[in-house]
Amino acid sequence: MSTRSLTRIIPSIPVSDGAGVKLRRSLGQSQGLRLDPFLMLDEFASDNPDDYIAGFPPHPHRGFETVTYMLAGDFEHEDHLGHKGHLRGGGAQWMTAGRGIIHSEMPLQESGRLHGFQFWINLPAREKMKPAAYRDIQPEEIPEVAIRGGSVKVVAGRLESADGQHADGPIQGLSTAPLFLDVRLEPGAHFVQSVEDGHAAFLYPYAGSLRVGAGAPRDLPARQVGVLSDGDRIEVQAGAEGGLFLLLAARPIGEPVVQYGPFVMNTRDEIEQALADYRAGTLAG
Ligand code: MN
Repeated sequence: MSTRSLTRIIPSIPVSDGAGVKLRRSLGQSQGLRLDPFLMLDEFASDNPDDYIAGFPPHPHRGFETVTYMLAGDFEHEDHLGHKGHLRGGGAQWMTAGRGIIHSEMPLQESGRLHGFQFWINLPAREKMKPAAYRDIQPEEIPEVAIRGGSVKVVAGRLESADGQHADGPIQGLSTAPLFLDVRLEPGAHFVQSVEDGHAAFLYPYAGSLRVGAGAPRDLPARQVGVLSDGDRIEVQAGAEGGLFLLLAARPIGEPVVQYGPFVMNTRDEIEQALADYRAGTLAG
């Protein structure tokens, strides 16, 4: 057994996206700040409707998956084919853009707290042009498991904690084999999770802080991505205020990444094709 250590910290920075939604972006703020297969991680958290009300009006995607996970607040998702989905606090949407989708993501509230995350996870070349698909995951579909000193929600992959707790999330069977946990730890509590050797993994505390690793653990403050070394287990301890954090891991794809905004392909030619298809109205086939 080898415990992963914290190798790099990527602080989140404030950015504005969509029609003026204020976000904190960590992964993906520049092309060098990706972690194959993860392309981007955004957190949106505000009690002020001016920060989110404009939402994300219609925009395209091709070549990857977008995953939205809501802690609080309501979003409505609608695509160019008229598919509608309602994202509730505690729920998630796993969207495979594949060859193309044009969609909007708009808040369904005019006041109150909105808090959630969106990350982008790449698709291998052989899957980039598959038909678009959605999984709208209701809060009650996400297992919440009590562990020693806290609890874990399992969105994707399998919880395998050191105290013997197991649970499978609703998202399974993807080629990148993602693991997506939302973990709450009381002050000082420990959490140990098995993870595949060779998979990319990172932590993102959104409240409190963590100490990461065994032996000589390193501190990871809130709102920063903590990139982990290789190994087959992740070990953390919550700081004095406890820790709320996302744990994400997935199998790297190992292919060239050429990104132009919301299009993520393997070559420049494929990006040109995506732009041409979008202009011609054939992005989604
Ligand atoms: Mn989108």
